Amino acid sequence: MQDFDELLNIDKNSIWHPYSAMSSDSPVYHVASADGVRLKLSNGQELIDGMSSWWSVIHGYNHPEMNLALEQQLKDMAHVMFGGLTHTPAIKLTEKLIAITPEPLNAVFYSDSGSVAVEVAMKMAIQYWHAKGESKRQRFISLRSGYHGDTLGAMSVCDPETGMHSLFSGVLPEQIFIEQPQCRFGEPCTDNDIAALKKALIEHGKDCAALIMEPIVQGAGGMWFYSADYVRQARKLCNEHNVLLIFDEIATGFGRTGKLFACEHADVVPDIMCIGKALTGGYLSLAATLTTRDIHLTIDGGTPGVFMHGPTFMANPLACTAALTSIRLLLESDWQESINRIQHVLEKGLAPCRQLPQVNDVRILGAIGVVELKEAVDMKAIVPKFVEAGVWIRPFGKLVYVMPPYIISNDDLATLASVMATIISNN
Ligand SMILES: *Cc1c(COP(=O)(O)O)cnc(C)c1O
Repeated sequence: MQDFDELLNIDKNSIWHPYSAMSSDSPVYHVASADGVRLKLSNGQELIDGMSSWWSVIHGYNHPEMNLALEQQLKDMAHVMFGGLTHTPAIKLTEKLIAITPEPLNAVFYSDSGSVAVEVAMKMAIQYWHAKGESKRQRFISLRSGYHGDTLGAMSVCDPETGMHSLFSGVLPEQIFIEQPQCRFGEPCTDNDIAALKKALIEHGKDCAALIMEPIVQGAGGMWFYSADYVRQARKLCNEHNVLLIFDEIATGFGRTGKLFACEHADVVPDIMCIGKALTGGYLSLAATLTTRDIHLTIDGGTPGVFMHGPTFMANPLACTAALTSIRLLLESDWQESINRIQHVLEKGLAPCRQLPQVNDVRILGAIGVVELKEAVDMKAIVPKFVEAGVWIRPFGKLVYVMPPYIISNDDLATLASVMATIISNN
């Protein structure tokens, strides 16, 4: 067995991590195992996980029932192609997803990551309009500070500045961007707040296939919580302008915001919805794009008469089993109570941050706690401080935030919050 220094050296010389330079001297930590809400590093140190491995590990790591379900599925098959073949985990999961997502979303396309689920949603919208004889509807309207993934189509609807659109100009399709909604969650949406969307639809609606947005919570693009009323008005405007509405619930799905899906805060149903991240409880990579009977029948009835997408690992049986088990665990638990509890403890624990001169804003919704600073943090300096204090928190830009597994105890949660407050105050 090679020693850890040697392993880390290979990592440093030859592996890219997300949005990183291989030659950077930012530390990466070697995880030996994980259990519950604890990441166990190879040097013996244990960290309380504040990130749920990017929204996904909602039941914690190494969950006995998740493990058991996967071991059993492994005995039947790990994988089988989905072209011309099917299997019970995919069928059962589909039944479940249709039951728990809002009506009338009842057709499901499986893919292997959130970015691809967004690509699929965009292609569905384009193929739908093509089948309706409106093939010039190929553009998308998107909100600034949004994040929808890293593949080229998904990137084209991400915030143009943080997504570095200028770097990729000529490759990325030019979409229509409108300001981030300024009306906060819990506040009404004024005529002024919705004006930009109205204007975009009047000017470009006829060329647009869809409006794509993360309902209620903008995730990786800014950790911003906005008015449910904005979402309702967006639905109404899309109907008036005959533009489809795509909700990207990849981060918000499966209870994180206090509702099973964030769109339920607004009581609004999209035409197409993307889910991923927490879908498998963080066990395996799986995503899905759901749509209505009308859209899938229209696509089927158009040219070429099929939907043009089909990933190799589509509806992987292990991943579908993980998703089914994770959804069962979630629905059997008192998850709303857990989310309320987390919201409550975060509100109390992060309250001292509001007084800090370094802090611009503190916002909490469901099991998401965000401290927005006035200046961008120095990642290279701050992450090791968190690790030293025994927590795993990975800020970006001006945002220091947590979205812990739903099973986290009040004590661990209070530790996350107090470490955040201490480290920010010394920053
Ligand atoms: C993470 C995320 C994606 C991309 O998902 P990947 O699995 O990383 O490709 C898309 N949209 C939203 C809202 C996300 O949070």
